[in-house]
Amino acid sequence: READLVELVEQAADAFRVTHAGHPLTVAPGPGSLKLVLDAQRIRQVLDNLLTNAAMHTPAGTRVSVAVSMTNGAAQVRIADAGPGIPPADRARVFDRFYRVDKARSRDRGGSGLGLAVAQSLVRAHGGRIELTSEPGATVFTVTIPLTGAAPPGHEAATQHV
Ligand code: ATP
Ligand code: MG
Repeated sequence: READLVELVEQAADAFRVTHAGHPLTVAPGPGSLKLVLDAQRIRQVLDNLLTNAAMHTPAGTRVSVAVSMTNGAAQVRIADAGPGIPPADRARVFDRFYRVDKARSRDRGGSGLGLAVAQSLVRAHGGRIELTSEPGATVFTVTIPLTGAAPPGHEAATQHV
């Protein structure tokens, strides 16, 4: 179950450019390949969820960027958008099932509020985590996946089986 995370990100980016042509997407230069133990189909689902959010919850034309890197024995994918952001009070809750920041508006956009809950479960099943920082013009979701597929020692996600 080894797969190339860089290749997965490139595939997700290619698909995004077709399905969300109204949002310019930049893939930052990074490692040429990054092989690790992961479930490619599920991690692709996580990437698609985060990229779709960056388009669906921002105005048309909003720039989206994605970057892959290696830090402290873990692979990281950073998905950022230049949209309006997520207010501080909502930041922890967006990972809850069915939680949407602006319910009326999100319903217009067809979201069910499940995407991030599912994405977080899938990443935790890899011993990893998703972190969020947000301010107007800069919302960043960072997915961290340990290289071995098991969480690094002392990492509490190691005990979270989904
Ligand atoms: P679904 O993914 O199930 O189709 P959804 O996108 O509404 O629906 P989540 O992906 O779980 O659900 O996101 C939860 C909420 O977090 C969204 O409804 C939206 O309010 C907010 N959100 C998520 N990503 C962003 C983003 N990049 N910018 C602004 N708000 C966001
Ligand atoms: Mg979503």
